[in-house]
Amino acid sequence: MPRLVFPILGEAAWTDDFGDARGQGSHEGNDLLAPRRALALAAEAGRIKFWTTSERAGCMLYLEGASGTQYLYVHLNNDLTDENDNRGNCVPGVSYAEGLASGDKVAAGEPIGFVGDSGDADGISPHLHFEVHPDRGGATNPFPHLKRASRLLFAATQGSTFTAALTGKVVTAAGEEIQVAVEQVRWWPGGRKAKQAGQKLSVAVPETASVEGLATAPGGLAYPTIDLLLRGSTVTVWTAPAKVTLAAQIGGRGALSAARVVLKRAS
Ligand SMILES: [Zn+2]
Repeated sequence: MPRLVFPILGEAAWTDDFGDARGQGSHEGNDLLAPRRALALAAEAGRIKFWTTSERAGCMLYLEGASGTQYLYVHLNNDLTDENDNRGNCVPGVSYAEGLASGDKVAAGEPIGFVGDSGDADGISPHLHFEVHPDRGGATNPFPHLKRASRLLFAATQGSTFTAALTGKVVTAAGEEIQVAVEQVRWWPGGRKAKQAGQKLSVAVPETASVEGLATAPGGLAYPTIDLLLRGSTVTVWTAPAKVTLAAQIGGRGALSAARVVLKRAS
C-alpha cells in the first residue's frame, strides 16, 4: 500500500480500536474523532462512489484507490446547522465535497466529504469511521497506515494558487530557514482555518521576506544567536503565493517559502 494522506484535515483523535467488540460484531475500522464538518480527504488518488442507503453507515462513500485498495468513509455529515439536526441529505455540500459527483476521479489529498455523525453515530461525537480494504478484500487495521500517513496543512485543488498563514512555535531559526511546530493553518482562497497537531516543518525565509516583531533586525544577528533568541517564540509565517502541490500541502522540505514572518518573543 502507498503512504496515505491522513483522511482528515487538521486535528483528529483516534486509537487502535480495530477489532474491538461492537454491537454488530468486531469493529472493522478506526474511528477518527474530529470537529463536525472537518474536511475528509482522499487517502490516495482514485475514484469516488457515494453510498446513501445504509441505515447504520448513514452518509458514506467508497474511495477506490489507484493502488487497488478500497477505503470506506462512514458517518459523514448530515446536519445543516452546528447542532445535530439531522436535516441534511447525503448530498454534495452536506456530506460530500461541494461539486463532487459519484464516479468522479480525485487526487490524493483532495477534499471529498465532511466529518459528521450520520447513521448509527447519530448523537455521539462526530467521527469518521475509516476502513481499509487492500485489493478490495477484507478489512485490515488502518492504524499503522494512519500513523505514518502524511498530514496535510491545508486543502485546495492541485495546480491552483494558494497562500497560507502558519501559526505555531519556533523550533529553530537559521538565517534562511525557520522551523515551526504548526498549531494552526489558515489558507486562501477561502480563509478557512484548521487546527494542527504541532507537526514540525521548515519554511524558507528569503531576503525579500519581511520579518516583524524583532527588536533587533535579524540581519544584525548571526546564527546561533538568532536561533537561541527565537526558540519557543510564537510565530506566524505567511507563505508566498505558490502552486498547490502535494509537497506544499505536506510542508515538505523546500516546498514553502515565506513572504512575511511575524514573531512574538517568548516571555
Ligand atoms: Zn467505527
